[in-house]
Formats: sequence, C-alpha cells, structure tokens
Amino acid sequence: MAQSRGRRYPELPHSYRGEFQRDRDRIIHSRAFRRLENKMQVFPAGISDHFRNRLTHTIEVSQIARTVASVLGLDEDLTEALALGHDIGHPPFAHAGEEELDRQMRRVGERFNHNLHALRIVESFEHRYARFRGLNLTFEVREGIVKHSRDFEKGENPALDDYLPGLRPPLEAQLIDLADEIAYNTADLDDAFSAGLFETSGIRKAVPEFDRRYEDAEGQFPGASEHERFQEVVRGLVDWLVSGFIQGTMDAAAQAGVAIAAEVREYPRRLASFTPASEATNRELKQFLHHEVYYSELMLEERRRSSRMLAELFEFYVANPAKLPPNYVESLDASPVHRVVCDYIAGMTDGFFLRQYQQAFAGS
Ligand code: MG
Repeated sequence: MAQSRGRRYPELPHSYRGEFQRDRDRIIHSRAFRRLENKMQVFPAGISDHFRNRLTHTIEVSQIARTVASVLGLDEDLTEALALGHDIGHPPFAHAGEEELDRQMRRVGERFNHNLHALRIVESFEHRYARFRGLNLTFEVREGIVKHSRDFEKGENPALDDYLPGLRPPLEAQLIDLADEIAYNTADLDDAFSAGLFETSGIRKAVPEFDRRYEDAEGQFPGASEHERFQEVVRGLVDWLVSGFIQGTMDAAAQAGVAIAAEVREYPRRLASFTPASEATNRELKQFLHHEVYYSELMLEERRRSSRMLAELFEFYVANPAKLPPNYVESLDASPVHRVVCDYIAGMTDGFFLRQYQQAFAGS
C-alpha cells in the first residue's frame, strides 16, 4: 500500500482498515455523497428512471478506475476513495449550475470551481466529529480532489500551496480524470440514444470505431434489434477505451522511464493517457455529444432555464440574507454574503433547489 503523508489531526491507526479505506468509508458516509443521488448528470430527474444521475455516474467511474488501478498495480483503495469523491463538489444542475455560480462569483471578483468546493466540503462543511470540522481525510485524497483535472504552480492559488504545487499527483489521482471521461462519454451516449436525441446513422458517421463495431454486430447478430446492436457496441466501446487507457498509461510510463511513484510526481507531464487510437475515439465521442446532445435544442432550453433560476435565487439571497438558514446567517459574520450564498446553493440537490426557488418566489 502507498504511504500516506497523514491527516491534519493525527488519529490512531485502525486495527484492520487501511488509511485510504477509512477515507473511502468517510466519503461514502458523508452527506455530500448521499446528495449525489439527487443531482443530475446530464438529463434532469424525471425524464427517465433509467438514466444516470450523479451517484450512479460516480459508481461507474469508481468501477472503471478500480479496474485500471488493479491492472496497473496501483493502490485500489486510494483510487476508490478519489473516484467516489470526485463529484461531491458539484452544484445542482450539472455544468449549467457550475457555470452560473462561477458567473455570479465573477461579478464580485471571485470564482466558483467544483473541485475547490469539494475541498471545502471535506475540510469544513461535513460535521461528523466532535474533535474537528470536516472529515480529516489523508493528504493524498485532498490533493487528488484539488488536482482532479489540472495541476497548478506555486502561488497560482495561495490556498492550494499546501498541496505540492508544481508537482503531478500520484497515478491513482491522475487516472480518475480519464476514468471519468470514459464513464460519461459512453454513458451519455447510451442515455441520449434512449432519449431519442440521435440515430445510429449519425454516430456511425461521426465515430469510425463505433461504425466498425456496429458493422461487426450486424454480421454477428443479423436478427438483433437496433437497441441490442447499440448495446453491443457501447459495451464493447467501454472495454476498448479502458484497455486503450491502460495500454496508453503503460506506454507513457515506459517511454518516460518512470518506474517508481516518486518519479511520477517529478515528471513534467501526467502519465495517465490513452493510446493514440483510443484517444481519437474518445475525442470523436466527445465532439459528437457536444453537437448532438449537450448543445441540442432540448438541452439548451433546459440549461437556459436552470441558469436563469439559479441566478434569480442567488440574487434573492444576496438581497435577503435573513432568509438563509440560521447556520448560514451565522457565517455572515466571517464571510461576505456572496460567498455564503454560493456555498449554500452549491450544496443543494436539484430537488432541494427547486423547492427553495418556489418558496422564495411564491406569490410573486
Ligand atoms: Mg464526473
């Protein structure tokens, strides 16, 4: 098992659970983790009970990341803890929600980012211990949270200078970002097809690897329905992308001459990577989803609606801070109102947000 730099508040070792297993368990038992169930991934709740929400997406990321970690001989417990925590900082309404909160914060010269918000959750907002605020996670899990998708240099964000600026995170943390991409690219394709947002002819034209596999499926299962062939291809694609990811990472490590964990940190680039062929397919999938799904008229309408409501509720609380719950009103002594409002809204599930919105504007 990988060595940990430890916790902010020292704790006695557990008799049979490792440090990263304990972190995984702390994340699973957190409120922020349970809220993932009522946060949308791409499609709003209520369209279909078969579509992913942020909790089932998180489980898919964790499954893919653990598979990769196990083949590469990495620490599966650290990987699992990072995967399960990777989206806990997501505000309501997915990317539209994150963009709108960021827009609101920029107006006062600040920013909102879901990875930094996740750090605030595990450091301060979760309250399960009498001795300290937060979950007292190991350094590696906190570092993995803030370096989820990008690295930073010293001084770039002084609040993060504790987290080894200028150095790459360990491979366990590096692989979460690509496991996330594999999970959502294939899952969004699956859900969007079920939602009727595109035809197989469209995806076959846009993604050659999909086309090749679809032709195979037609030859192999001539009597199969379109749905069955589509499922055959998506299943095969997940496997192919994961295998390309494992191979690409092994190739990158060999090419870099990196053999031990310490060298992963010092190396100027991240080593977690796809092979060129799987990279191309991953990119084509992403482009297809952008055009046909995320920016489709149906989804744009939904995004505009949720952005507008989020902006309205944000402005409502800034103008009426006394309407915030008592513990948030208390934090107004220490933090400016927009920060408190941002923290409150960022923690909301989609359903809770809609109830607060209705309450705020009832009768107006
Ligand atoms: Mg994710």
